[in-house]
Amino acid sequence: MLSLRLKSLKAYNTETSKAKIKLSSNELPYELPDYLKTRIAQEISKIPLNRYPDPLCAELKEVLADFFGIKESNILLGNGSDELIYYISTAVGELNEAVLIPVPTFPMYEIISRTLGRPRIEVLLKEDFDLDLEKILEVFKERKPILAYFSFPNNPTGNLFSKEKIERIRSEGLFAVLDEAYYHYSGNTFLKDALEREDTVVLRTLSKIGLAGLRIGILIGKEEIIKELDKIRLPFNITYPSQVAAVLILREGREFIEQSIKKVVSERQRVYFELQNIKGVEVFPSKANFILFRTPYPASFVHEELLKRGVLIRNMSYLPGLERCLRVSIGKEEENDAFLEALSEVIK
Ligand SMILES: *Cc1c(COP(=O)(O)O)cnc(C)c1O
Repeated sequence: MLSLRLKSLKAYNTETSKAKIKLSSNELPYELPDYLKTRIAQEISKIPLNRYPDPLCAELKEVLADFFGIKESNILLGNGSDELIYYISTAVGELNEAVLIPVPTFPMYEIISRTLGRPRIEVLLKEDFDLDLEKILEVFKERKPILAYFSFPNNPTGNLFSKEKIERIRSEGLFAVLDEAYYHYSGNTFLKDALEREDTVVLRTLSKIGLAGLRIGILIGKEEIIKELDKIRLPFNITYPSQVAAVLILREGREFIEQSIKKVVSERQRVYFELQNIKGVEVFPSKANFILFRTPYPASFVHEELLKRGVLIRNMSYLPGLERCLRVSIGKEEENDAFLEALSEVIK
């Protein structure tokens, strides 16, 4: 009785191997300081858990609006940006209209399109991992997509696509989603467009800046767009504890978040240079909190050997164009050192 579509799907498989050093999911490596944890415990203990949470997340939106420098009416919240990708994929265009996905990229765009039975147009990035504008425009002659996902910067390659190319593609008349999950590490944004245009939205998340466990994704767009998308949002999609904890951390823990981001950015620079110094390793520049690199050996071998040494990173070689590539998240200084040392040993 289940849909035939399900036959072609696989359950999302994230890395669950246990390792002493986990550099596989682009999380922030630092835990919240104790004073914040205590405050969260206090606030969470006050929640009437027999009650539904605020379906509008009014307080959280107020704090987020301040955090991002926008208005509450420009925000739609999701249980992680993954949920927002689901909403967008459901709501933009008709389900028989295609979705443009430059690949390799974040797998959820494809998975959700498949789930909904939407046709996909996947166009391989160029060798420098920028958008292949010629090929994309060529494809448009046969079939025009109505929706496009741009991971900005792109996960897992780490680069920012050319803004001009994105604008050119959008000018063909499609709805552009700028997934800025790594905005805090790149500083580049389409926020202005999202606030002014009906064909552009920006996705942000708290997951990559220390709060992955809360599952809070933020869609930013014009009020008219937000109002329409809000019609398909599940009523209580942000849990009560998540709302309370996020509000508190964004009010009392900004300093911690900002300092953490700075440390990661400076470690990114160091890890990049250290990787370049390992003979045989090809490193790709990154504007995010992870780095993609290629070695002369099969990625599964490198992955396993690192795991034996207690370091878990992500094998990316299954994605198109990423033969022998792996992605390492930027960790604490000592974690990065352990990774670099283990990798040097394995490459030798
Ligand atoms: C990690 C990631 C997300 C997922 O964010 P959540 O808010 O945790 O669901 C979305 N987009 C990209 C590109 C990511 O790398």
